[in-house]
Amino acid sequence: MPLPLAHGLVGAGIIAALHPQPLRHRGLPLLFGAILANCADLDFGLVLLTHDKSWHRGFTHSLAFSLLLTVTALAVWGGAHLWRVSAYGACYASHGLLDYSTTKLGGGVELLWPAARGRYGLGLWGLSELPSRLPPAEVLRWLGVEFLIFAPPLLALLLLRRSRAKTPRRPA
Ligand SMILES: [Zn+2]
Repeated sequence: MPLPLAHGLVGAGIIAALHPQPLRHRGLPLLFGAILANCADLDFGLVLLTHDKSWHRGFTHSLAFSLLLTVTALAVWGGAHLWRVSAYGACYASHGLLDYSTTKLGGGVELLWPAARGRYGLGLWGLSELPSRLPPAEVLRWLGVEFLIFAPPLLALLLLRRSRAKTPRRPA
């Protein structure tokens, strides 16, 4: 389970890559993408309500739930916002995929719910696990590691978009 910083940087990176608006309007969309990329962990609310830890990394982390939220948003806002809503849907979906890639403890993520109730995880990187059990210095160290891994791609995407926006278009 990466810390919220990693999820947020990935969500902002997805918006930087996919959002159709010009760069000058992208501050709020980047923030919204970062927030959406953390929303799957709202399942902690179910854990607190039921005192059952199995809710965490359950259906809220699945690709099907991400798709359901995206289709619902498209139904509400209409097809005219297809790219924008799809980009935000990708931000939400990135959470389950990043947890799937990095989670080593807790049995993985219910990525394929409801088709399969199994928990899956690659455990590719040793990003932070159970930060509540880590001493503050260790949490700070992992924040630094996550920043060093996920901030450069976001910065590169923002610089690329900025340079494209400054390049004059040739007349057709
Ligand atoms: Zn999670």
